[in-house]
This record gives sequence, C-alpha cells and structure tokens, in this order.
Amino acid sequence: MKAAVFYGDKTIRVEEHELRELRPDEIMIDVKAAGICGTDIHIYNGSGGATDCNPPVVLGHELAGVVSEVGSSVKRIKVGDRVCVDPNVMCGGCDFCHDGEVQFCENMYATGVNCDGGFAEKCIVLERQAFVVDPSISFEAASMCEPLACALHGFDLSEVKPGHSVLIIGGGTIGLTMLQLCKLAGATKIAVSEPDTSKHALAKELGADHTIDPLHEKVREKLNEYGMKHINVVIECVGRINTMQDAIEYCGRGGLVMLFGLTDDKAVMEIKPFELFRKELTIRTSFVNPQTQRRSVELLNSRRLQMDKLVAEVIPLEKLEEKLAHPGSAGKIIVRP
Ligand SMILES: [Zn+2]
Ligand SMILES: [Zn+2]
Repeated sequence: MKAAVFYGDKTIRVEEHELRELRPDEIMIDVKAAGICGTDIHIYNGSGGATDCNPPVVLGHELAGVVSEVGSSVKRIKVGDRVCVDPNVMCGGCDFCHDGEVQFCENMYATGVNCDGGFAEKCIVLERQAFVVDPSISFEAASMCEPLACALHGFDLSEVKPGHSVLIIGGGTIGLTMLQLCKLAGATKIAVSEPDTSKHALAKELGADHTIDPLHEKVREKLNEYGMKHINVVIECVGRINTMQDAIEYCGRGGLVMLFGLTDDKAVMEIKPFELFRKELTIRTSFVNPQTQRRSVELLNSRRLQMDKLVAEVIPLEKLEEKLAHPGSAGKIIVRP
C-alpha cells in the first residue's frame, strides 16, 4: 500500500509500505480521511507529543474509513462499517488503568504515533479501538472524532455550567469545538478571542456571542462592553505562553482556567501566585481522551456538533509534508489517501 512514512528529522517519504498480517482481534480500515493534528506538527519538528514517537512510522492518529477486513475473533465490527478510531491504546492492567485514570496508562501506545497510523491507504487497529459512525456522517467529520474526544475531556474538566460566561482563546479547530460544547452545555455568554478575523464569522455561526481581535482590540475593555466583566471559565486553545498568561489574567474571581493548548515541551511560563491567590483561581490541564471517544461519536451521530464546518482543506498524501512544515492557520487540514 501507499503510505507517508515519517523517518524523523523532518523527513516524510510517500512510498510503498508493507502491511503486516491481521491478528485475530484486529480490523483493517481503508482510510478515507486522516486529520493533521498539532501533535503531528510537534512530532515532525522533533518535539514530544502525548507519547514518544520512534520513527520510521506512519503518522496520522485522527482517522476514519471503511472496514475492509476483520480478524477471526472480531464480533462487534463488520466489513463495510464506517468507523473512526481511538488511537490511544491503554493496557488495562497497570495501576492507573485499574484506578480508572487510563490516560496515565504506563504502557499506552498510540496508532499514528508509535505504531503505523492513518496517513496511508490502509491502517490496522484493534477492534476495541474502533467505533461505528453513521454512514451519513462525512469521513472528514468522522476523522475529527479523536480531537473532539480530547476536547470533550478538556471540556469536562472545565466545568462549564448553564448560565456561565466563557472566554475561549483561539478560534482554531479546538477553539471552535470547545465553543460548540460550551453552547450545548448552556453557557450564556461566550466570547472567542482570535487574531485571524477571517475566522470570526464562523465563530459567530457556531454560537459565539462575541468575537474579539486581541491584536487590535483591548480584550478587557471589550469583555466589559459585552457584559462579561466576570468570566467563569477561560479555555485556552492556542498553546502559547502569552495566551496562557492572558487566560489567567482575564479569568474572573473563583474562576477556572483550562490550559488546553499544547506548548513546546521546553516552554517555561511566569505566573504571579498573588494573582491566583486573590482570585482563588483553579488552573487545569487536560491530557488526551480518557473514555470520551464513545460520547464523541454520539455527538457526531446526533449532529449536535458541526465538525464539517471546521475543515479548511482536503489534501492528497503527497502534500502532507508541505503542510506539516508550513501548517498555516486556516483550520483543519484533512489528508485523503
Ligand atoms: Zn490529534
Ligand atoms: Zn495501563
């Protein structure tokens, strides 16, 4: 099969790649869509993701496709099913798994990070990692089930409640996913701060009450003007130090800051403990997608979320490397192998 193999050191080659044999508990997927994630860009540039990457490997952990073959003991999934994949495989037997904190599994590995993933014509995964998606859901939207599941975990930890005022920093794929989840949860005032004003219309369409251009507008003044003097929750979806500091600054008393964006693994941040003390702030982070994939599929299948709108571009395998090297900020880029 044709695959984009990552060799480390900013090198990807689209080439013939041998497909291993299917084990009894595995399924083969004809990949129809595989999203490029910030994690792929981090790995391509030699930085860490949630798990360590050992090239050569086929990246691509956000994938959807059609099942073309099933192993001898597979029961739940059938040939022809449209599926998406939870790439994070937990062992089920370590202390963390036993305690229900599977995201900290000591033996976790991930499809598309440390075993071959979705930037290829075919991909093999364990049956238990696959989820059937309604055939009316596009492959592009289905491939976003994994980032949605990650966002959902972060959202759960953000404790957004009906009637809350929420500031979302960053109007990219994750920011606009968080926005839709906040809307569903009943947040009554939601502002999205995003310097690329071309994204503001979509943010409004997806439920933002207000959009702010942080480069040309004074965020605090705008929030006051919009009746958002007291922010209950700030969700940072950028992963830069300055936007994380902004999140702490703009969050109101007794509020919660969710630092969802992934920084470079060497980034260091200054915080003023006095400010945290005065405001009794809670700062939270969120790691991968522990047991949120099924709910994520439910949200997709119910059409409560509009993931298709977040797709900026669909590209062939041959253009993957160019996009990893120069990602831009247009929105979700999906590879169609
Ligand atoms: Zn991802
Ligand atoms: Zn484990």
